[in-house]
Amino acid sequence: MFAKGIRCVSCKKEFSPHLVIYECEECGSPVDIEYDYGGIKKKLIKDLFFKEQPSHWKYNLLYPIEDLSNRVTLQEGGTPLLPSKKQKGLLFKIEGMNPTGSFKDRGSTIEISKAVELGVSEVACATTGNMGASVASYCARAGLRCTIYLPFFSPKNKITQIQQMGAETHLVHGTYEDALAKTKELRKKKHIYLTGDYAYRGEGEKSVGFEIIDQLNWTSPDYIVLPVGNATLFSATYKACYELKILGLLQAIPKLVAVQAFGCKPLVDAYQKGQKKITPVKQPQTLASAIACGNPVDGMKALAALQKTRGLCIDVQDSEILAAREELAWKEGLFVEPSGAVSYAGAKKLNLKGTVVCVLTGHGLKDPEKY
Ligand SMILES: *Cc1c(COP(=O)(O)O)cnc(C)c1O
Repeated sequence: MFAKGIRCVSCKKEFSPHLVIYECEECGSPVDIEYDYGGIKKKLIKDLFFKEQPSHWKYNLLYPIEDLSNRVTLQEGGTPLLPSKKQKGLLFKIEGMNPTGSFKDRGSTIEISKAVELGVSEVACATTGNMGASVASYCARAGLRCTIYLPFFSPKNKITQIQQMGAETHLVHGTYEDALAKTKELRKKKHIYLTGDYAYRGEGEKSVGFEIIDQLNWTSPDYIVLPVGNATLFSATYKACYELKILGLLQAIPKLVAVQAFGCKPLVDAYQKGQKKITPVKQPQTLASAIACGNPVDGMKALAALQKTRGLCIDVQDSEILAAREELAWKEGLFVEPSGAVSYAGAKKLNLKGTVVCVLTGHGLKDPEKY
């Protein structure tokens, strides 16, 4: 394994990569995993690596798993990068084609593999739906007990999907933040492995970025556009580009575009005001339930990435999200849930031109309501 340490993103305290750390024990900020990139560079047998088809585990040197035989996989990733029929240069990364219907599987395969590696028997997770469905599936595959907390407002199909995977499912009155608080209580009571938007998940979600660059033949698009809820996908995509650049596989990091819903845009506000910290939104209001996260777990990482790369950050109205979803369906033949259309809604609003990759994060059957 080339992961060499876990470091706090604010106070820089370092922890062993063999520990379970959710947030910095000193200051409570998110932590990040650091690698020995020199070692990885030597190990990349380029010919073999370049011949392999893009898939989640192709990039295994950049994941914090010690022994690949601990892998819990449903063959996630390797999703299409589909050109638009309507706009030249516009490409869609179809994450709804992952095993449980969203990109969350890329994070779950790493988190649950790590849980197996750590000898854990019980897992808990707070979710707005997709992460829970994904974690429950990987736990079933690994034979781990799984408890999921999610808000009542979560789409019906996501709740059913979680229950069908045999997870103990608790519907919580309140927001995603209230569900998160429940899992933290549980962690105090007994030793339980929390999955969610913690460092291991982000390591897995990097593969969205690795695959996009790989599918573009190791060149950078002009923009990668992503929806932001907890900002884990966004910061993971940034980290993926950053790592490929360090490894000499990518010349320049593309402009990253973060898109939030108007009714829940703490990252947009913090970036526009040039703040270092995020002011949480107490009552998120958007029908894009997968991005209704008022206090983004990885907000600080995303903010730093935006500031470093002079990325773009924009919010869209629910009506714009629904219009983008309808356009993807009627003009492109693509069925996505509302949160899955957020990146495209943002790209349209900004009128982005050139090579533009919109990550369509979740399948339409997850939340097929018309609204
Ligand atoms: C989880 C999710 C998001 C938001 O991702 P974050 O990492 O929380 O920012 C967006 N769309 C869908 C479909 C999701 O499941």
